Amino acid sequence: MTTDFGTVLEHWDGQAVVIRHDEPSGAWMFVALHDDTLGGPVGGCRMRVYDHPAEGLLDATRLAAGMTAKWAAMEFPFGGGKSVLAVPHLMEGEERRGLLVRFAHLLNTLEGTYRGGEDLGTTPDDMAFLAGHTPHMMGAHGSEGPADPGPFTALGVFVGIRSALGAVFGSRELDGRTVLVQGVGDVGIPLSRMIAAAGGIVLAADVDRDVAEEVADECGGRVVDAESVYTTRCDVYAPCAIGATVNPETVPLLTCRIVAGSANNQLLSPEDGDRLHERGILYAPDYVINGGGAMAFGLMHQGVDDREELDRRVSTIEQALDEIFEESRTQGITPGEASDRRVRRILEKHRR
Ligand code: NAD
Repeated sequence: MTTDFGTVLEHWDGQAVVIRHDEPSGAWMFVALHDDTLGGPVGGCRMRVYDHPAEGLLDATRLAAGMTAKWAAMEFPFGGGKSVLAVPHLMEGEERRGLLVRFAHLLNTLEGTYRGGEDLGTTPDDMAFLAGHTPHMMGAHGSEGPADPGPFTALGVFVGIRSALGAVFGSRELDGRTVLVQGVGDVGIPLSRMIAAAGGIVLAADVDRDVAEEVADECGGRVVDAESVYTTRCDVYAPCAIGATVNPETVPLLTCRIVAGSANNQLLSPEDGDRLHERGILYAPDYVINGGGAMAFGLMHQGVDDREELDRRVSTIEQALDEIFEESRTQGITPGEASDRRVRRILEKHRR
């Protein structure tokens, strides 16, 4: 894909971007500020090698728009933002720290207009390091080390699955329901445990078969080959590994009634949401169901540290999805369209 900065920005509806070329490392820094209707832009900092710097800018602008939708769907008082460090090669040691220090200085010049956090390619250690150079990073770093968003994201997915079960089967109970968890990592492991504790049957799939076996053993479930995920009979398919697994090739194969997982960008394109809808498979929009970790970190940033309160707030994702599924049902639209409408309504209400 070839594009340039101008083309990217002409097709973007966000508020501003800050672009800096980092001469010592050859990296490009992009900070995309999409929408501050609900509050100052907040979103992760991604570090990646791109073929062309404009692809890094494109990623930053798209991801920032995604953050606007994620915060708005939860009506959380943050706006949509994202930063990307488009590096010429993966960096370690002094080279990486030098880049991070200069990125921290850039954030300091923005005086908190944007607040960042961990994302693909950055680590809890990077967040701790950045926190030493700028107050504008959101990584929750307590006395026992960095906080882990995975269990909060998993809780949001778990209550989201309950909501979807209620919409499809008339009962939210997990008892006896099979949930295929694709990717048993930071989110998939705690999610599998919650499903098993609620009486659900865990089917664990991972490219790392040993991990899948461990999780299946612990949860009293069984392993599914990573290649057989889409053809395996289950009630719920929970994509918790990579994006774009719901696409024209996989949708016809699915035998589940629900797609509800943590992965970002689960649909290859919006049309795949229509395809699921036509097949009678209920899709829990990814940016709604996977917002638990972001919400918990946002709350911790606001000073909420009581675990019960954090869990209670993350569990409101269940009600948000109830409303989205109900709107989808009554209006005859896909859940994706219903959640997009919800986002637009919430932003409009706050703009007024
Ligand atoms: P992770 O890296 O800890 O775990 C992902 C697991 O998926 C790994 O065990 C990996 O081996 C496995 N995997 C990778 N490709 C696979 C494939 N093709 N088939 C089966 N298994 C595969 O990641 P995570 O933090 O658990 O996040 C999972 C997904 O959820 C990602 O898409 C992430 O962007 C998204 N997400 C995570 C969070 C969070 O709080 N961690 C929040 C929002 C969204």
